Amino acid sequence: MELWYTENQTENVKFSMKVKEHIFTGQSDFQKIDIIDTYEFGRVLVIDGWTMVTEKDEFIYHEMITHVALGVNPNIKRALVIGGGDGGTVRELTSFKNIEEIHMVEIDPVVVEASIKYLPFTSSKLSDERVKVFYQDGLEYVKDKEDYYDIIIVDSTDPIGPGEGLFTESFYKDCFKALTKDGIMVNQCESPYYPNNAREMKRSYSKIKNIFPICEVYQYNMPTYASGHWLFGFASKKYHPLKDFKGFEFKEKLNYTKYYNEDIHRGAFALPNYVKNNLEK
Ligand code: SAM
Repeated sequence: MELWYTENQTENVKFSMKVKEHIFTGQSDFQKIDIIDTYEFGRVLVIDGWTMVTEKDEFIYHEMITHVALGVNPNIKRALVIGGGDGGTVRELTSFKNIEEIHMVEIDPVVVEASIKYLPFTSSKLSDERVKVFYQDGLEYVKDKEDYYDIIIVDSTDPIGPGEGLFTESFYKDCFKALTKDGIMVNQCESPYYPNNAREMKRSYSKIKNIFPICEVYQYNMPTYASGHWLFGFASKKYHPLKDFKGFEFKEKLNYTKYYNEDIHRGAFALPNYVKNNLEK
């Protein structure tokens, strides 16, 4: 008998992966967490019925959420990741030798524990000596922080459940305050394609635009997320993601990254007309 995992990407669209084994299931105080092993995508982390990370395409998401900002400001010393309990974003940050502190604030210890046990490909660098993990709501964590982080990466779930507060204006304002004078915030900015995701994309962009002097979005291709067309927000107090792009100073990264490179950096900010129009409307 065949076993399939099916995700309802919209009311009318389903996406399925053939499953080898259901490895873990758990209900935390915040959400339902599953880990499955699939034939095509390897191990997959699913939260509340939504694919978060797959072994086969996580490199795209995690490289694009970190390397773009580091390409613009290679002197980042203190980094904060909000969410990101699988450890993939932290793993990418640890590849930058001059980062001194990496703080990860994850609301749900069950996600981190399960990732350490079953997803070593993303969680392996959580033990790096520069990394400190705080189990707390990111919303609360940033409230009393001021002028400290050079980068904040909001690696959150969608704006439902515990991730909802991470899409609010007051949270973005607190992030602005917690950043140094040339700080950058990168956030999971949903997808422009299906109406539900596009609505959240617009809401997030319009709020951030009122707070940060520089506010752009850039795209990446994620095979297992709904429609495959997804965006990150790039908000900054000083650096423009293209005008201040240092070029590919990290030559050694050419042998390290599998997705990100100088052309991808520049090209990712070139948005289709329907996305531009929807953002500006
Ligand atoms: N790559 C992912 C995606 O967009 O599908 C995100 C993955 S990561 C696992 C998302 C994490 O954000 C989850 O582990 C969840 O527990 C965490 N999270 C959600 N709301 C949070 C909050 N308010 N504070 C801190 N972490 C939060």
